[in-house]
Amino acid sequence: MNKNKKTLPKMTPGEALPGAVIAERKRCGKPNCRCASGNPEDLHGPYYYRYYRENGRLRKAYVPKDRVEQVRAACALYREEQRTRRWMALLFQQHAQSVDEMLRQIEALWKS
Ligand SMILES: [Zn+2]
Repeated sequence: MNKNKKTLPKMTPGEALPGAVIAERKRCGKPNCRCASGNPEDLHGPYYYRYYRENGRLRKAYVPKDRVEQVRAACALYREEQRTRRWMALLFQQHAQSVDEMLRQIEALWKS
């Protein structure tokens, strides 16, 4: 079983994913490796990870290089959906308020 399959579920077209894809460069820890110099250009990578929240906790999932664009698009779609959802909630709230106000005026007419 390859580890990419474990960290990244199969995606369907148009799927939205929370979070953002971030590139990281790393040190492997071997003392004789070029990355031990600490220079950013000597580090390994970039490796790509999607950071997202799950039940309030920050999580990190490896994204294979050939799927970075796909996952980035899914993250952008998720943000867009969230924006739309907030907008719809606001419209619904305003609608409810105006219905409430209308009812108040009708009730006031009944009393007069
Ligand atoms: Zn190294």
